Amino acid sequence: MEYESVIGLEVHIHLNTRTKAFCSCGTEFGLAANTQVCPVCLGFPGTLPVFNEVFLEYAIRAGLALNCKIANYIKFDRKNYFYPDLPKGYQITQFDFPIGACGYLNIALSKGENKRIGVTRVHMEEDAGKLVHTNRATLVDFNRGGIPLLEIVSEPDLNSAQQAYTYLSSLKSIIEYLEISDCDMEKGSLRCDANISLRLKGTQKLGVKVELKNMNSFKNVRTALNYEITRQKEQLDTGKKIVQQTRLWDADKQKTVVMREKEDAHDYRYFPEPDLVPFTISNELIEQISSNLPELPAAKKQRLIEQYKLSEYDAGVISADKHLALYFEAVVSVYFEPKVVANWLMGSIMNYLNTHQSDAIKLQDLLPAERLVSLLKVVAKGVISVKIAKEILPEVISSNKDAEAIIKEKKLCQISDPSELESIIDEIINANANVVQDFKDGKTNALMFFVGQVMKKTRGKANPQVVNTMLKNKLIVSDA
Ligand SMILES: [Zn+2]
Repeated sequence: MEYESVIGLEVHIHLNTRTKAFCSCGTEFGLAANTQVCPVCLGFPGTLPVFNEVFLEYAIRAGLALNCKIANYIKFDRKNYFYPDLPKGYQITQFDFPIGACGYLNIALSKGENKRIGVTRVHMEEDAGKLVHTNRATLVDFNRGGIPLLEIVSEPDLNSAQQAYTYLSSLKSIIEYLEISDCDMEKGSLRCDANISLRLKGTQKLGVKVELKNMNSFKNVRTALNYEITRQKEQLDTGKKIVQQTRLWDADKQKTVVMREKEDAHDYRYFPEPDLVPFTISNELIEQISSNLPELPAAKKQRLIEQYKLSEYDAGVISADKHLALYFEAVVSVYFEPKVVANWLMGSIMNYLNTHQSDAIKLQDLLPAERLVSLLKVVAKGVISVKIAKEILPEVISSNKDAEAIIKEKKLCQISDPSELESIIDEIINANANVVQDFKDGKTNALMFFVGQVMKKTRGKANPQVVNTMLKNKLIVSDA
């Protein structure tokens, strides 16, 4: 049978406010356990929460960027449950009046098409503490307790694991542009749960859904969803029923395992938070925040296409990373060869960053725009070939030297003078009479072979265009 997968995602994002959601404790990551705590976030009796204004502003920014309707009425609720990382026994959240609702996010599909994914709601809440399991005991660190979180819930509009992956990447990109979170999954600043069910293709009725948790990278989300799609298909094809349950992704075993079965939603006994009075916010405030939003990835992409004539694909890759886009524009402002710059960024420079586990945010420090431009200029002048330029890129980055100095030091100048190349070319032609014959027989890769040999002999320094022309002349002459 042919099925369609129906996927919805719930994403939690840590906001990078200086202080916590309802107290003045700091939010810095990685400090000694329980050093960022106070009576309020530890839930001592008699303490009262005080709402962080910056939290509200960040939440509105995210809501607007996700095309949500922003609520003027701000109300908090208590979500009650008992767990060792939750000293109050409840979490402050927003239940029936989320700050943002009815939004959407456009994701790019493969064939240049876009798909609109509904954003059901965006709401504010506080994070819980963190349990640390050791051999001897389970410890609890409350530093994370009370850190402002945004929960962003999508409509079940995603129909494949790849679409879910693209949605997450686009969402992360928007949040990074807004500068409201570092979205670092390793630090737990971005966490994602998924709901997935299958239905017969062409039907509307939703199947029984399974909730997936514990996926700590976007790749894991995609792999876990693909695993679950296959598992559910097999169940349905063999006449078995899907059981509504929560499953955990086990990255070591590359499979999902049952965490709990649930008959109904938890009864969290939501009720209005009595210690935080509801209040209203004005349309002026929302408009003011809206007018201060930065250029977002979709607009940036469009502008890169129009202003620099980049292809849809190139503009998409560069605009997806805010820092890559900033760097691109910095380079192009002093060296207006957008396509050349884009190719370098998406090729060698991205490779360098990946192999050195670095990020585009560090580019301006690693390779100041002017230094990259000096490298691109010596290539454009024909002093060195693109190949050599790519080879010395790591040194240009690590040595703090200009490309010209490295070229001089290593004697890498391109050989473009025919008199210097002539004897090398003659020698190779004479030593390969059989390939000369191939060339005469019209085999196109014979020429490639000769070019390759000359490049080898000159350690990549021969000017390929000059070599090509000289070779053709000589081979055609020898043909006569
Ligand atoms: Zn505190």
